Amino acid sequence: MRDYVKLTERDNVAVVTHDVSKGVEIMPGLVLLDDIPQAHKFALVDIPKDGEIIRYGVVLGYALDAIKRGAWINEHMLKLPTSPSVDNMKWGTNIRKDLPEAPRKTFMGYRNPDGFYAGTRNILGIQTTVQCVQGVLDVAVDKIRREILPKYPNVDDVVAINHAYGCGVAINAPDAKFPIRALQNIARHPNFGGQLMVVSLGCEKLTVERLVGAENNTPENVVVLQDCKGFNAMMSAIMDMAEKKMKVLNERRREELPLSELLVGMQCGGSDAFSGVSANPSAGYAADMLVQAGATVMFSEVTEVRDGVNFIAERCVSAEVRDKLADEMRWYDKYLDAGEVDRSANPTPGNKKGGLSNIVEKAMGSIAKSGTSPIVEVLSPAERPTKHGMIYAATPASDIVCGPCQLASGIGLQVFMTGRGTPYGLAAAPVIKVCSRNEMKEQWPDVIDISAGAVVTGEKTIQEVGTELFNFILDVASGTKKPYTEQYGLHNFLCIFNPAPIT
Ligand code: CA
Repeated sequence: MRDYVKLTERDNVAVVTHDVSKGVEIMPGLVLLDDIPQAHKFALVDIPKDGEIIRYGVVLGYALDAIKRGAWINEHMLKLPTSPSVDNMKWGTNIRKDLPEAPRKTFMGYRNPDGFYAGTRNILGIQTTVQCVQGVLDVAVDKIRREILPKYPNVDDVVAINHAYGCGVAINAPDAKFPIRALQNIARHPNFGGQLMVVSLGCEKLTVERLVGAENNTPENVVVLQDCKGFNAMMSAIMDMAEKKMKVLNERRREELPLSELLVGMQCGGSDAFSGVSANPSAGYAADMLVQAGATVMFSEVTEVRDGVNFIAERCVSAEVRDKLADEMRWYDKYLDAGEVDRSANPTPGNKKGGLSNIVEKAMGSIAKSGTSPIVEVLSPAERPTKHGMIYAATPASDIVCGPCQLASGIGLQVFMTGRGTPYGLAAAPVIKVCSRNEMKEQWPDVIDISAGAVVTGEKTIQEVGTELFNFILDVASGTKKPYTEQYGLHNFLCIFNPAPIT
């Protein structure tokens, strides 16, 4: 087992793979001057004041004071560099053609009549126009799950799409397009099989027409609570409609489909300094295999790519894709400016405890989950893709906000990398957990699906863990395996991204 990881020749720091005490000779002639916590950095050379601190071959920051060879480098010792400009970024200079060959080219999914991506699950999704209906709908869904769902064995679940949007909001503000588009596209999610069911209050700002289109505002699709005579009438209207929709869904069958029908989302959260060494590069390898076999993979999280945006631009297949990337970054820069913060607000106390000194270091690790495939399209938050291949979908990095954005984009499942651990999950699509270090898997053996920890210790390669993950993704997509979050029903609330004013 190795004691430290140095990622590129240029790096002047390395990361320890376990807690190492002061005085230990970690490599011939290099004695540590401090106790170094697991995943934290130490200096490989003397670094002068204002000298560059380099990891991943990029400058993470500049030394606030001189740092001696063998000393611990923590988040208080670096000055953040200015973020790269998004003007005139080079594009197409790093287009990789020799992606790793995928061992499987098909999966078992639910083909959808609209020609969009296939479903990985068969779920009755009940849409809501407004928060006000949640209490009633939750009681109804509980009853549906107990009394109706067991009668329809081909239906996996019934899910209420509850959210905090819909009324008391500036519905015509320019930025209201984000939450509205998110909810519109979640209603069309591939796992819902085109069966539309909406519960509305009756006086909300987000009208049924606006949510699902006037053509879908019919008594067959919509229950309006204010039109029901009392609570029992509300319940029976919802139950009756749910049963009719479930009857149709019950006829859906899985079929063998090419991977071009699969859309996978990548996200990370609770990252540590190993995330970019083990879990994210392994996910990136699996992503490259998926793309090689024709699948579409989406990665996101603006504040976690902003500092490495030039590396993404180099992989864009056209100036048009590069321009959309730049536009999305500019929009987010302005959004953060308006809130009087910058991207340095991103890393969490847990990230820092995990050895991530700043957002540059976090970004380099985060981008690794996108592998090396050419980037064929850039999406605004919650847009649906029109291309196949690697896609960048600009969303907030917050796990519980990125998740619903990717759901709206139509992901059949999400792969979620973590270093510190989070039990986050989605009700409408399975979430696979991949951890960056062995201790995380030991701590949560029955929450983490795949550990990339053996990459840190040198016992497995990125290719080995990446291939294991690729196969697990296809098994989960095909319904033959369930990740832990799905087995336990760990479903986080859908926090819909709303940068527009609340009234
Ligand atoms: Ca995240």
